[in-house]
Amino acid sequence: MLEARGVAAGYGSVDVLRGIDLTLAQDEVVAVVGANGAGKSTLVRTLTGLLTARSGTITMDGDAITTTSAHARARRGLVMVPEGRRLFASLTVQENVDLGRSARAGRSDVDPFEVLGDIFPILAERAHQRAGLLSGGEQQQVALARALVGRPRYLLLDEPSLGLSPALTTRLFQTVAKIREHLPVGILLVEQMVDRALELADRAYVIERGQVVLEGPASEVAASGEVQRAYLGEV
Ligand code: ATP
Repeated sequence: MLEARGVAAGYGSVDVLRGIDLTLAQDEVVAVVGANGAGKSTLVRTLTGLLTARSGTITMDGDAITTTSAHARARRGLVMVPEGRRLFASLTVQENVDLGRSARAGRSDVDPFEVLGDIFPILAERAHQRAGLLSGGEQQQVALARALVGRPRYLLLDEPSLGLSPALTTRLFQTVAKIREHLPVGILLVEQMVDRALELADRAYVIERGQVVLEGPASEVAASGEVQRAYLGEV
């Protein structure tokens, strides 16, 4: 279980997260939704260690990681796919994916192109193509494969649908569903596509101004009047 308790974080004199409580088990998909600027990316950055929590605790499978470096958290199996994917454009698909393998040296003995090949057809089809030449949807596949090749226990996805067409977004969500079906990894899904995220997720948190204002089974969160009004376009 990845667990945040009373986590506060911010930038300089700006407080962004104001006491977040959240859990993610290894067998669930949990959505985090909220308006622009609510603090979703800041939450992901704080959980992965790119930003240090100002107060509160973060634990992973019972061990405190609140002040552990991002690199060490990644080696222990907490990995994120950042907004914008961040591939190396001049490296091939295979080289990009292999970088994820080395991030967790010694722990990954599987051939990614076999294990992940079913989930990501791109790995077989475009292994030797430069990543910079791929479409946004294809790049997202590579970014996910790179994150998964080190066999993380927890995967944090920050706005994976950003910049994708509706059709590619549908494929992306199908891919996330396949990951949850085939791999033992807890997935935290931060999304602007609230309806789709809630369809896929088991549980959800709604964040406003750095606080959790609603949480529960995704279907209940989706049905709540507040979420319907604020995020799903109902009146
Ligand atoms: P979005 O969907 O727009 O990315 P978000 O919910 O992910 O929104 P954050 O990116 O976490 O929100 O930003 C929360 C607040 O923190 C915003 O007011 C933002 O301006 C501020 N912020 C984010 N990054 C920084 C930074 N590096 N320095 C200062 N303030 C920042």
